[in-house]
Amino acid sequence: MGKFEFDIARVRSDFPILDRKVNRCPLVYLDNAATTHVPDQVLAVIANHYHTHNANVHRGAHTLSLEATGYFEKARERVAEFVGANRKSEVVFTRGTTDSINLVAQSWGAANRKSGVAVTAMEHHSNFIPWQQLCRARRKKLGVVPLDSSGDLDLDALEVMLRKDDIGLVAVTQVSNVLGTVNPLRDIVELAHRFGALVLIDAAQAVRHEAIQAHELECDFLCFSGHKMMGPTGIGVLYGKASLLEKIPPFAFGGEMADRVDAIRSTFQPAPLKFEAGTPNYVGAIGLAASIDYLKGVGLSAIRLREQELLRYAEKRIRSISEVRVLGSPKRRAGCLSFAVEGRNPFDVAAMLDAQGIAVRSGSMCAQPLVKNLDVAQVVRISPAFYNTFEELDACIAALEETVAMLPPALQG
Ligand code: PMP
Repeated sequence: MGKFEFDIARVRSDFPILDRKVNRCPLVYLDNAATTHVPDQVLAVIANHYHTHNANVHRGAHTLSLEATGYFEKARERVAEFVGANRKSEVVFTRGTTDSINLVAQSWGAANRKSGVAVTAMEHHSNFIPWQQLCRARRKKLGVVPLDSSGDLDLDALEVMLRKDDIGLVAVTQVSNVLGTVNPLRDIVELAHRFGALVLIDAAQAVRHEAIQAHELECDFLCFSGHKMMGPTGIGVLYGKASLLEKIPPFAFGGEMADRVDAIRSTFQPAPLKFEAGTPNYVGAIGLAASIDYLKGVGLSAIRLREQELLRYAEKRIRSISEVRVLGSPKRRAGCLSFAVEGRNPFDVAAMLDAQGIAVRSGSMCAQPLVKNLDVAQVVRISPAFYNTFEELDACIAALEETVAMLPPALQG
């Protein structure tokens, strides 16, 4: 087998859920942008941890606690290497992307009361509302970078914003969870830094299939979730430049993040521990490291290439269905694509597909500002992962064609 080829049968056998039936049809799972499935290898690492090593971390001198701490900190090292951090202390474990972004909004926000924030019109609510609320509370400017008609960011508008307004941080997604637009991060980081603004990257949709090298990219913060990369739920990562993590204050307080505590004041551990108050999801972190090992075992370049081919194939076929409008035509698309079916309610479309075992997402994708901009009320989204097959896409498209024929627009309210 060539370097980027896939033993799809072997890969699929790692995910028993892919074999199940839904509504008496074989499951076709095309909702990987919402969450991905977890392979047996990752489940085995999690089970083994509970079977053999479980104890709270960073707390005890006894053997199990030392073992668990060792595995937890080893997981941090593996994540640091995976995201291209300079050192493992740049990796904070959180509950997920949303938690990571809120952490930065609160902590950076507390240290920078004077600056506004720029977000983009394609952000997920997770990378929109925390900044909106921060700016509202501070009475500071929230700039929203618009998109062009293809669904790419208008970087000239960002430049005007940076020049005109006091923007301290630009928060931008690497890949849109609606259009699949891949943003030009290098240009954005260079532009923001030229005006003295920091850059936070929401890598939730990118982490599985885009090579991430945070240090090399020189971004200031980068956030992602384990459950979108074949890892467990409830674990996520905040990468932050060491100098920044040292500077910004903790925002959650509790066990293990403190150094000295008395009735008057407390001092805190250095980063990353000062951001990990309470018992961390150490088993989740260990599971996340196992998912990184799994993805590397399959081959990161092979995953990227296969997901690109699957998406390109899906787009070509979906574009050929009359009455279906694929949204956006960005310079580069990855991970997902969304479409509207003329006159039909997206929830009805998704329900009709589900009746044939096909799982797609419908709604506003937690990106209401973007969906409103696209001039549609709601959309349908498909997001293949490397374990999907071209035959599954054919099944989805056949079912979609049938749905369009069976759901005449006149029947829609
Ligand atoms: N940002 C983007 C682009 C996403 O797609 C998602 C998840 N749909 C999130 C943030 C939030 O991730 P989580 O729910 O894991 O915190």
